[in-house]
Amino acid sequence: MKHTLRFRAYLSDDVASEAWRHIDILRQIRNHAVRGYYNSDYNDKPSDYDQHSKLKDWTDQWPTFADPSQHAAQQAISQIHSDLETLKERRNEGYDVGRLQWQGNGEFRSVSYNQSRRWNVDYNAGDDRFVRLRLEKIGWFNIRADRDVPPAENIDEVILKKETTGEWYVSLVTTVEDTPEKPPLSEIEPEDCVGVDLGITSYIHTSENLSVDTLDLSEEYDRYAREQRKLDRKEHGSANWEKQRRKVAQAKRTIKRKVRDYQHKLTTWLVTEYDVVAVEDLDVKPMMETSQNAKNKQDAAWSRFIELLEYKADLHGTHVEKVKPEGTTKECAVCGVETAKPIWVREHSCPACGHTEDRDLNAAKNILYRGLTQLGAGRSESTPVQTALPTFTPRSEAVDAKRVVEAGSPGA
Ligand SMILES: [Zn+2]
Repeated sequence: MKHTLRFRAYLSDDVASEAWRHIDILRQIRNHAVRGYYNSDYNDKPSDYDQHSKLKDWTDQWPTFADPSQHAAQQAISQIHSDLETLKERRNEGYDVGRLQWQGNGEFRSVSYNQSRRWNVDYNAGDDRFVRLRLEKIGWFNIRADRDVPPAENIDEVILKKETTGEWYVSLVTTVEDTPEKPPLSEIEPEDCVGVDLGITSYIHTSENLSVDTLDLSEEYDRYAREQRKLDRKEHGSANWEKQRRKVAQAKRTIKRKVRDYQHKLTTWLVTEYDVVAVEDLDVKPMMETSQNAKNKQDAAWSRFIELLEYKADLHGTHVEKVKPEGTTKECAVCGVETAKPIWVREHSCPACGHTEDRDLNAAKNILYRGLTQLGAGRSESTPVQTALPTFTPRSEAVDAKRVVEAGSPGA
């Protein structure tokens, strides 16, 4: 499987301005390719390959298009075709998806290469803390080697990105061999299966009635708001404004990093603790994260959580099953009868069989049930489905994030 290592990169002013100039040209090439695609007749849409071969004509017409690595230009074009493919799959699954958007100045922030002859790695940077990396047409720069940097030939892809904070990062994608096999279903014990409800009142609620509290970031959000207010008072574009803009970006990044860190701990805990993890499939619009409303931000956070969970499941040999989220809160985990309940009703109380329990716990059990059914556990006697859903006495236990930290293993 693929494994991505991310390093902080330090570019000299010259290299940084050249890299940023190239990235902006790649943005224009990308926009040109997107336009070319949508302007073509329905029956005559250009393929990835078609647009690669047009690149030469485009560079004849707009000479600056020839400045960045032409390999990187092809990569930027390939990316839109892979995005188009994803949109198509989503549409076929019945989701309402839009089109690829034209990207404005600063919206496109990275350059990617996937042939090893386009880069070099030099371990003699003159300082143990750094390793030097060269990218075609951009040049040499340092990366902070806070863990081992793989040799050039073991790297599958290099992505150089400028964050909105102004900091540069490099992602090195490698292939990890020898990831553990996922255990066969027949060897999985019911207690090693869990359903996870992504909650409203708690961050997650499991079918074992463990709830993990939402991370308290109120101080960080306050700071972010404060820095943003200061920015609003500065004259747009002035040196002070620019300085303040960086502070805002920094505050935002602190929040992002804490959320990420928290998600890392939770997902590591889940994949090390269980063999089967069932979650709701909320990964609905991975490319539509631009909307500003809170609901979408929450969805985006869940998407990343699920992405991370799937990634770690591969590393640890754990099954992750994404199930349809519709009706998981309405359905009774014992008898299957659906009862509508408004969001503020925190308890599931079944009119058909009399079963009563916490709303999120009931949902988590339904999620687990769906996950196991999907996994092919069926309903036969010996499969976990029968036994994994006992009507055990509810023993609600709130897990504090610190305990999860201790339970989660270090490493991935
Ligand atoms: Zn019932």
